[in-house]
Amino acid sequence: MYSIGPLTVARGERAQGLIPVGTSSYGVELGIPLIVVNGAQGGPVLCVDAGVHGDEYDGQEAIRRVLAEIDPATLRGTVVGIPCLNTPAFEAAARASGIDHLNLNRIFPGDAEGSYSQRLAATFVEQVVPVVDAVVDLHTGGAYGEIAPLVILQGGYENLATDLALAAGHELVWKGGKWGGTVRHPVLEAGKPAITLECGGATYREANVEQHMHSVRNILRQLGMIDGKAELRGTYTTVSGTFARSDAGGFFVSHAEPGETCKEGDLIGTISDHYGNVLEEVRAPQEGIVLWVRRIRTVRPGDEVVIFGEVQGEILSC
Ligand SMILES: [Zn+2]
Repeated sequence: MYSIGPLTVARGERAQGLIPVGTSSYGVELGIPLIVVNGAQGGPVLCVDAGVHGDEYDGQEAIRRVLAEIDPATLRGTVVGIPCLNTPAFEAAARASGIDHLNLNRIFPGDAEGSYSQRLAATFVEQVVPVVDAVVDLHTGGAYGEIAPLVILQGGYENLATDLALAAGHELVWKGGKWGGTVRHPVLEAGKPAITLECGGATYREANVEQHMHSVRNILRQLGMIDGKAELRGTYTTVSGTFARSDAGGFFVSHAEPGETCKEGDLIGTISDHYGNVLEEVRAPQEGIVLWVRRIRTVRPGDEVVIFGEVQGEILSC
């Protein structure tokens, strides 16, 4: 028997339901939607979530599909899918919540007496984190941009989360660590591995749904939950990320693609005015890899236009 929130799931069974967080102004219960597949045999509990940002769709669909294909009769352990953690942001088709306009991925561990997003984060920490063994958090580059396929491994938690990160299968390992309050943080602080997987963005693409599904399946193999040997790369490239913001507002055109390698000074993008005059050129600050590129053309002063990855080193598997 496995219990999470209001659900109790017998071995070899599936269940779905909502962990309540509050009631909307139109009287509907809001909360955390769960899909649970409890294997017939014992094993770890893996939580896979998406929709922390409401405009990131590919991971949400990947979770529904990958959980549908898992056979509880042969699964070892339990998979907890949270296809859309931040439903008010999904309803707003936006990165931030439509209720309190907070970015859920900056406010963990939340506050049970705060605004809706704060309560949502606190509910995840109180009711999900204690009953799972690891968390895989699926993202995309958002509606405004596109990101290279990569895994975010929180700096300072390498001993805890590197195995999980490498099993995601992405060559790029972003050693995130400059900001707190992400969904990873309370999990890592509880002594459990947590990683964030990124790919795609700007629009929904089937190839990116498949990419996320491929990573989750490989992690399930790595954890011994489904049959087969996990595929690992021989080497992984670790990068740090620098967010480049525009000084000028205007029309943005990118000259580099996510994942592209650049030399110092290479042109990554231009910002022009309505008459076609170039107001600003965005150039690579040093040799490295373009991680995220803005895909919408509107740029206001101070908007993010690119995330540039500085190569830190390599990780060799095995
Ligand atoms: Zn995101």
